[in-house]
Amino acid sequence: MAMHPVRVKASRRLGPQLVRITLSGPTLADFVDDGPDQRCKIFLPRDGHTAPPVPGGPDWYEAWRALPDDIRPIMRTYTIRYSRPELGEVDIDFVLREGAGPGTRWAAQARPGDRACLFGPRAEYAPPPGLDAQLIVGDATALPAIAAIVENLSVTQRAWVFVEVDTPADEQLLTTCADVSTTWLHLGGRPPGRTDTLLDAVRGAELPAGRLSAWVAGEAAVVRAVRRHLVCERDFSAADIQFSGYWRIGAAIDPD
Ligand SMILES: Cc1cc2nc3c(=O)[nH]c(=O)nc-3n(C[C@H](O)[C@H](O)[C@H](O)COP(=O)(O)OP(=O)(O)OC[C@H]3O[C@@H](n4cnc5c(N)ncnc54)[C@H](O)[C@@H]3O)c2cc1C
Repeated sequence: MAMHPVRVKASRRLGPQLVRITLSGPTLADFVDDGPDQRCKIFLPRDGHTAPPVPGGPDWYEAWRALPDDIRPIMRTYTIRYSRPELGEVDIDFVLREGAGPGTRWAAQARPGDRACLFGPRAEYAPPPGLDAQLIVGDATALPAIAAIVENLSVTQRAWVFVEVDTPADEQLLTTCADVSTTWLHLGGRPPGRTDTLLDAVRGAELPAGRLSAWVAGEAAVVRAVRRHLVCERDFSAADIQFSGYWRIGAAIDPD
């Protein structure tokens, strides 16, 4: 993984809740797609700065932490939705939410030419072999990873997918050659992370018999509740569940 200075090339609304930012940079030719659920860190300039001063080298994290508070760039974690190394470009889909933090505000206002820095990527999706089907669950922040996971399934694989977005206008076409059952859940203006929408949907799901794996991402407490249900009430093996708290109510997941 390496640091990649980038600039915003384009910004496009995908729906009321999602904006796709295309970033380009001279070193993104090396940004190879190593699989779905591909995470990266994005560094954003603080107010009053135009470029994030990001240290490089193996000790970048300590050097970043040692920067004075007023210039240390904001660091947040996002998913690479598409990478086009031949063009030196990547796309990241940002959820837009009133009252979220600097990462969300940056995405909402991003204009061509704005500067940022990426560190990564690292693909995390690693279901165990020998499965009969996969359960994939997440909120809007997980939609970029879910879409990539589903796209990468092979024709012999089966998956049950549950995605929570605000309204039907935030749904996306999930292209796949696999046998996939997708359920879209709508908050309809209710705040994310504070309802049992995802948990209730998974609870009520008729899942196939056999060995299933699960991938669950979204608000940290929701993710924990879904995982607990799968292990305690559905007899999933804990080792077959990949789960990730992508954000947490009332706090930043990444240190500032
Ligand atoms: C591996 C990984 C991959 C991720 N991929 C994506 C992605 O592709 N797209 C994406 O949009 N997000 C993604 N996220 C989630 C994203 O990192 C967080 O939503 C992040 O907190 C946003 O930063 P912020 O500066 O806006 O808010 P923060 O400063 O982190 O938090 C400020 C406040 O905003 C609230 N908040 C943060 N995010 C949300 C939200 N989505 N909805 C409601 N309230 C929120 C927090 O509870 C907190 O109170 C990913 C996270 C991880 C760990």
